[in-house]
Amino acid sequence: MGYQEKFKLDGERAVVTGGGRAIGLCCVEALAEAGAAVIVIERSEADAREALALRDKGYDVDLKIGDVTDSARMEAIATELADSGHAATILVNNAGIGQSGIPSQDVTDADWLRMMDVNVNGVFWCSRAFGRHMVAARRGAIVNLGSMSGIICNRPQPQTPYNVSKAAVHHLTRSMAAEWAEHGVRVNAVAPTYIETPMVMAVEANRERIPVWLADTPMGRMGTPEEVASAVLFLASGAASLMTGAIVNVDAGFTCW
Ligand code: NDP
Repeated sequence: MGYQEKFKLDGERAVVTGGGRAIGLCCVEALAEAGAAVIVIERSEADAREALALRDKGYDVDLKIGDVTDSARMEAIATELADSGHAATILVNNAGIGQSGIPSQDVTDADWLRMMDVNVNGVFWCSRAFGRHMVAARRGAIVNLGSMSGIICNRPQPQTPYNVSKAAVHHLTRSMAAEWAEHGVRVNAVAPTYIETPMVMAVEANRERIPVWLADTPMGRMGTPEEVASAVLFLASGAASLMTGAIVNVDAGFTCW
């Protein structure tokens, strides 16, 4: 097979959680452009408007309403796809919530539990639900959205719950990769630096922190959602056929210093 062929995803069926905007939306477009049929999981139809508009470009994009913290709903979507003969062969666990900026001594039980519920439980529920059909079919690729915050504790804002949730995603990635390798299912993660998305830019205090972030970044800039989606596309494709359990830094060198 030629090298360009390895990046093609014709005949694949990809699920992207939180695929309605920002990084998730770019993943939807990247996977669809490579030939995959893509199912977006969002909590409302309004959230998925831009993703569904990709149909105007001729892409095969569909929507399933659901919250990744609802394990029964994730199982139901996975079963519905499998029963219709279209089980997911690719899963991008993108849905997540951002840094709270709350000092640890002020983090409430509810703050902590919500972060873990979306960022860790949600990734496991979806991986289990869609992964069981990949295991049965003996093929599949899962790509998780980790973060450089799961590797280092970046300054200056306090964000212990987020950092811990992303470190858990990285270890979940390695653990499931080791377990499912013999079943033909690859599990990898990307670990991005600060990306210009609503998660980051909607927090007013973050905009004042940008000069500190840039000073800490060897390449001296933030990333774009497209740059993360490119790495996700690679890991989801046959071009990454020997890769599993990898945490791929997409971080402008941030974790080098
Ligand atoms: P955004 O907040 O811009 O988008 C997140 C998407 O996920 C939204 O569409 C959101 O929908 C959806 N979502 C959130 N919670 C749930 C849920 N419980 N069930 C279903 N969908 C949900 O995030 P980004 O694009 O910035 O980030 C995407 C991923 O990348 C996250 O996992 C994040 O942690 C990670 N990441 C981001 C970085 C950055 O700098 N932006 C850096 C490193 C990692 P809704 O409108 O309903 O909230």
